[in-house]
Amino acid sequence: TARRSLPSRADVLVVGSGPVGATFARELYDAAPWLSVLMVEAGPRLTDSLGANVRNLDAGNRRRAQDLATRWTGQETSDTGRAGGRLAARPGTFLLREAGITGDDDQTGMPAAALSANVGGMGAHWTCACPKPGGSERIGFLEDSFDDAFDRACTLLGVTTEAFPDTDTSRELRRTLSNLFDAGRPADRRVQPMPLACTPTGHALPHWSGVDTVLGPLARGQHERFTLAAETVCRRLLHESGRVSGAILADRHSNETHLVRARFVVVAADALRTPQLLWASDIRPRALGTHLNDQPQIVSALALRDTAAGPSTAADDRRELLSGVLWIPFHEPDFPFHTQVMQVGTTPIEIPGADVQHRPVVTWGRFTTKDIRAEDRVEFSDTELDEFGMPAMTIHYGLSRRDRDTIARAERDMIAQAAAIGDFFPGSEPRLLPAGSSLHYQGTVRMGEVDDGTSVCDRDSRVWGFENLYVAGNGVIPTPTACNPTATSVALAVLASRHLAGQVSMGAR
Ligand code: FAD
Repeated sequence: TARRSLPSRADVLVVGSGPVGATFARELYDAAPWLSVLMVEAGPRLTDSLGANVRNLDAGNRRRAQDLATRWTGQETSDTGRAGGRLAARPGTFLLREAGITGDDDQTGMPAAALSANVGGMGAHWTCACPKPGGSERIGFLEDSFDDAFDRACTLLGVTTEAFPDTDTSRELRRTLSNLFDAGRPADRRVQPMPLACTPTGHALPHWSGVDTVLGPLARGQHERFTLAAETVCRRLLHESGRVSGAILADRHSNETHLVRARFVVVAADALRTPQLLWASDIRPRALGTHLNDQPQIVSALALRDTAAGPSTAADDRRELLSGVLWIPFHEPDFPFHTQVMQVGTTPIEIPGADVQHRPVVTWGRFTTKDIRAEDRVEFSDTELDEFGMPAMTIHYGLSRRDRDTIARAERDMIAQAAAIGDFFPGSEPRLLPAGSSLHYQGTVRMGEVDDGTSVCDRDSRVWGFENLYVAGNGVIPTPTACNPTATSVALAVLASRHLAGQVSMGAR
């Protein structure tokens, strides 16, 4: 079992094997390869290479991997986010609460909140969009170090803007979008190819980055001081007087427990389960779990206008019709939105019936920023446990009046601007998805400049009042963002890893 192979001591314990936990393992390996790192992951391993993106697998193996990740839940999953009139989690994820939508308001309580529990976390399933935050999305007090860390994050994730070949279709689409959106924007915030974490293959689709990309040599099991224990839940951190000394781990199946001693602990267990573990460990700063921030998501699909390309000749090579993935960056004050224009097949949201063989279809989707409010929060039970033996979670969440105005404006604009691009695919007019659909939850262990009770960690991601406990992941982001958050969280983890490595070299016990 995982338990038997577990060490009793590690220099660094990393909880969670998603892209952010992996960033610590990789950065510490590069900076201080003599450190022993134990990474624990509640869910199973899905692929030979640790945490590989299952979107690279052929359809049958992909379904098997997705099924292995969520079979235990008994939940149905669906590429459309719906199954038989009910909400359904995206493949590879499971809903926090499996429930029909009650009443008309699917924006309250975050009914679509979903999680992954497998080696690689959501990073084994993600779409790989890695936009850079701009304007008020950015963390003001990190301006001196963020850009450099973001560059490193892009290297770790393998980000490129050349994922797709330039085609007549993509050039024409980009021209149309530039005419609509570029006026008044600085060069780096104009319409451009989406930075994507992937490697071009010369074929229609690139090879998508997963957590194995971030882990690099560690993914191939070549480093004896790195151990990844799958199906192992970290139940509780042990600590005294602001120092963490280790953790209680539990075998996911047998429930057998194991004590591990650690000099440093990093909790990178996603925006809901990172605060959950702190709570379970009686580490409960006032802001823990509060300021929960999601990105309202509006989706639609467009059949593009006739392009010079015309229909494809070869059935197995639709290259001329590829439009790639384009990005219209968040830009204030007029555009508090992040927009992705993605060719069908690159998005996690399926468009039933789209015949891309003859006319390119793109998703025309938008995330908006949201008012950050302390009362939007995840709450933990003192009596009930979830399936992993952790405090059961309840989400309190809603939209403000201003959020509703922003969303209404986004929808209006999408309809007006679409006319220049194409025709709404039948049944795919813009619609606001149920809250939680973005899978971009943030803020629950937020970073702050000072310890004033509104944040959980400092600029180095160290929990206030603790010498050797770090938190990581989208939960650390304190700002209202519209752009996909993973690259930002990896950048913050790069900064935190550097801090941790500095502590080691200063001889911290
Ligand atoms: P996760 O990847 O969620 O990993 C956390 C891991 O911690 C999980 O595997 C969990 O099982 C484990 N864990 C939790 N609690 C414990 C515990 N107590 N003990 C042991 N292990 C524990 N983001 C983008 O930026 N761009 C995109 O294009 C994009 N597309 C997406 C598409 C899909 C279909 C999905 C599912 C997600 C997408 N995301 C995207 C979101 C992205 O995947 C996440 O932001 C990212 O994976 C977060 O990384 P993380 O390491 O913080 O957490």
